[in-house]
Amino acid sequence: MAEYDNNNIFAKILRGELPAHKVYEDEHTLAFLDIMPRAPGHTLIIPKKPARNLLDVDSESLAHVIKTAKKIAIAGKKAFNADGVTMQQFNEAAGGQVVFHLHVHIIPRHKDVPMKPPASAMEKPEVLAEHAKLLKAALAE
Ligand code: AMP
Repeated sequence: MAEYDNNNIFAKILRGELPAHKVYEDEHTLAFLDIMPRAPGHTLIIPKKPARNLLDVDSESLAHVIKTAKKIAIAGKKAFNADGVTMQQFNEAAGGQVVFHLHVHIIPRHKDVPMKPPASAMEKPEVLAEHAKLLKAALAE
């Protein structure tokens, strides 16, 4: 397996070198909106500690990510009045991974509404800003 690359997009977001619509942050994890959401509220949860994916992450860091993913899943369901939540996580290119810093997708879902295909459209920044606001409000409840 390839080495962790410090210049991947999410490492740059963690260092503040690229912008992101952040919804939650703690000592170990960061959650921000996916710029090409497959449904409104699509959020990515990443560990602050470098890890390429599930195959090299240490268990403690993974536990922090899952804990935050659960928090975001509950907030996303509430904020978007969703009927369910899809969690996805891809490993290596053959497994569907595109950005090589471990991330979990949390996607609020509505009954009988299919997800958009991956990378189908870039969402408008003002829409993402509004969605981040909704998620933060739900997290604060
Ligand atoms: P994957 O590695 O297959 O889980 O896909 C990477 C995900 O990151 C895709 O859903 C992209 O839409 C998303 N993505 C790529 N660049 C950014 C970015 N700068 N900010 C937020 N999400 C991103």
